[in-house]
Amino acid sequence: MREIKGISIIENASLKNLNTYKIESKAKYLIKIETLQGLIDLLKYLKENKIKYFILGAGSNIVIDDYFDGAVIKLEGLNKISVRQTEITCESGAMMGALSCTSMNHSLTGLEWAINIPGTVGGSIVGNAGAYNKEMFDNLRSIKVLDENLEVKTILKEQIKHSYRHTDLKDKPWIVIEATFELEKGNKEKSLELVRERKERRMKTQPLDMPSAGSVFRNPENDHAGRLIEACGLKGKKIGGAMVSEKHANFIVNTGNATSNDIKNLIKLVHTQVKHDFNVDLVLEQEIIDWK
Ligand SMILES: Cc1cc2nc3c(=O)[nH]c(=O)nc-3n(C[C@H](O)[C@H](O)[C@H](O)COP(=O)(O)OP(=O)(O)OC[C@H]3O[C@@H](n4cnc5c(N)ncnc54)[C@H](O)[C@@H]3O)c2cc1C
Repeated sequence: MREIKGISIIENASLKNLNTYKIESKAKYLIKIETLQGLIDLLKYLKENKIKYFILGAGSNIVIDDYFDGAVIKLEGLNKISVRQTEITCESGAMMGALSCTSMNHSLTGLEWAINIPGTVGGSIVGNAGAYNKEMFDNLRSIKVLDENLEVKTILKEQIKHSYRHTDLKDKPWIVIEATFELEKGNKEKSLELVRERKERRMKTQPLDMPSAGSVFRNPENDHAGRLIEACGLKGKKIGGAMVSEKHANFIVNTGNATSNDIKNLIKLVHTQVKHDFNVDLVLEQEIIDWK
């Protein structure tokens, strides 16, 4: 594996700083991709040698396990963003904040909402991230993926089933490598003002000073998961190092040394309590990754 160009490998790597919950977890290999060809050559090698792999974005929407006996792949070198008139093309390892800033710097409007999403473009497409009644698929035109035969394919937005915080890309063995968005001409100052207001509101309402992975559950129709959880009296509820945030009940925070199990058990407890008190089946927005 070490002979493959365009990648770098760390063995027995800590993933603590690669997931926003800061769960102490390890992977047999952590592989950072610098070029698309590096990724293709690596996947060939992993498939031939029957080594399991997992594509990690910014780790901001997942609850990872304690150990992965395989290769965690980070696409961080695939992060180029280019602008042509009202069209932006972005590699999937780029951060959402970089995509949003680039669009505003070119006086384009449509991606202001994305500035506070601490994820990659790839992870955000797969999960159809969104905020303030906007979502990834609003301005998306097409994506490029590496398919199961390691061929690059262009997929139009219309070919992807998507709904609130969900796409059918989750069920496909594809790796998103690039996305193209169509935006509109806007006003940079207006966009920056909007972003400033929203940032202030987030700082006031979300526990951004503690490790978390954002909203735990999707909002049920015409209601808020946070309202239901708070009404169950669960704010401040703790299991081990995991706690339902005192500031926003739909956030679970790591108070210092939360394990993967602490977080998963607290998620279960909250789900059961809300079902018991309100007969509402909350749907998880975060993804529990089972590496066993
Ligand atoms: C403080 C905070 C606030 C947040 N606010 C919001 C919000 O307002 N709205 C919102 O929607 N989300 C929010 N989130 C959640 C999160 O940031 C988003 O869901 C984000 O889109 C996840 O991207 P990621 O790169 O971190 O994906 P990860 O969590 O790393 O991965 C998620 C899934 O995508 C897969 N994946 C990642 N990259 C690729 C790829 N290139 N190809 C194929 N599969 C891939 C992974 O294997 C995994 O299954 C918030 C999180 C935090 C911590």
